[in-house]
Amino acid sequence: MDASRKKKITIVGGGIIGCLIAIHFKKKNYEVTILEQKKYLGGVLRDYEIKNDFFFRGCQYLENGIDWIDQLKMISREKFNSFKYNYASNNIFNEETLLKKDLAVPIFKFKNISKKKFKLNNTKNSSLVDKISFFPKEIKKKLINFIKNCGLDPKEIHYDCAQNLQISRINILNSDLELMKLKSDKSIFDENLAVSRKIKKANDLFYSTPLNGYSKMFDKILLNLKKMGIQIILNTKVEPVWIENKLILKYDEKKISDSLIFWSGNPTNLIYNFNKKKIKSNIFKTLQISANISSHYKKNFFLQNFSDKSKILRIQTYILRKKNKIGVECLFTNNPSSNILNESRKILSKLKINFKIFDKTIVKYPLPRFDVYTVSDQKIINEFQNKTKNSNLLYSPWLIYGRRKKIEKIIDFLVRKKIY
Ligand SMILES: Cc1cc2nc3c(=O)[nH]c(=O)nc-3n(C[C@H](O)[C@H](O)[C@H](O)COP(=O)(O)OP(=O)(O)OC[C@H]3O[C@@H](n4cnc5c(N)ncnc54)[C@H](O)[C@@H]3O)c2cc1C
Repeated sequence: MDASRKKKITIVGGGIIGCLIAIHFKKKNYEVTILEQKKYLGGVLRDYEIKNDFFFRGCQYLENGIDWIDQLKMISREKFNSFKYNYASNNIFNEETLLKKDLAVPIFKFKNISKKKFKLNNTKNSSLVDKISFFPKEIKKKLINFIKNCGLDPKEIHYDCAQNLQISRINILNSDLELMKLKSDKSIFDENLAVSRKIKKANDLFYSTPLNGYSKMFDKILLNLKKMGIQIILNTKVEPVWIENKLILKYDEKKISDSLIFWSGNPTNLIYNFNKKKIKSNIFKTLQISANISSHYKKNFFLQNFSDKSKILRIQTYILRKKNKIGVECLFTNNPSSNILNESRKILSKLKINFKIFDKTIVKYPLPRFDVYTVSDQKIINEFQNKTKNSNLLYSPWLIYGRRKKIEKIIDFLVRKKIY
């Protein structure tokens, strides 16, 4: 099929990726339709709203200086809060705590680090166990305990998910110079060890978030995409139907059969309808606990927490609609939300970030994470993408977590298909 001659594209899912694909194809003069099952655009980025109070759904920073993000910001015509990335890593293993600023990876103590301590002849890259077998035994053990504490089986989870769990690189306390030497010696060290941007002499990172939240941003995007001539059909769940190697979309007794299709949503049904293989999506369940806070601390701060015991994964302080907020992404737990928030407050106070939590505004809601998947699911998805690569379904990077990498993969694909 000569994809460039096809002038219609239907996008299933109106999250950020679906919106970006829509803009791209509109500029290429395609007839573009977005089909979205919810009654609004924005997907996972929509704010959590309760009694007219708004909270971010997890730590969602937009990188500054990236073309397609700038384009989307412009289309929304919203105002953004731009800030320097301020972050830290807190580590609690065997009751011992290590806290370090300017890193968001696990940090361990280890004496006399040298090449010999790592497993260099590790050729398998199937599961998380293969990934962390590279590290010295003591560190491997702690990482295994972290993964188990997350309720995950390290033998079952795919190697690449280390990145999504923020454990693909580690740092060793007070060893930055040794780590730098190793990193410049071999790419395998560079891929597995981290030092702060300051030590690497890399520039600071800058991010932004919409001043009035993502829901408002996407409501404006909706209006402006429509003005650009993009058809947007909300409240509509699409059912995929495969006839041999052709994908047809069904909804409300209607059918779309003559179109390129970009499927940005969860692909479980799409794959099942093709080959009756079921992926175990949503195996990693997390919760978001948020509240308004009183604080003189007016900055955005992000902390990654690694532990064999604590339920906290990430803590974020931010400002939304002029109110100071805290958001904590944590593992499923019966602990009262106020305990989780108090534990977070104590961690941040060690960094001199102090605040009071407004108890009456505490909210708790589930956060879907589709980015942690098993070795067998990865095989099913790759096999499916391989078998459908000559169909009207465009490639979609379902297994990738971060927006920037997702888009880079899509652009790569479109360039190869000569539709970029
Ligand atoms: C807690 C959390 C924090 C994150 N932090 C960051 C971060 O800091 N930086 C970063 O780069 N990434 C981050 N991510 C990942 C990032 O949010 C996602 O990669 C990105 O926003 C996903 O956008 P999307 O459009 O691909 O998917 P989604 O936002 O999930 O959109 C998919 C849309 O498809 C719709 N849909 C699904 N099935 C159907 C159907 N059958 N018919 C019609 N519609 C359908 C859904 O309703 C949804 O609106 C984070 C994710 C989470 C969960």
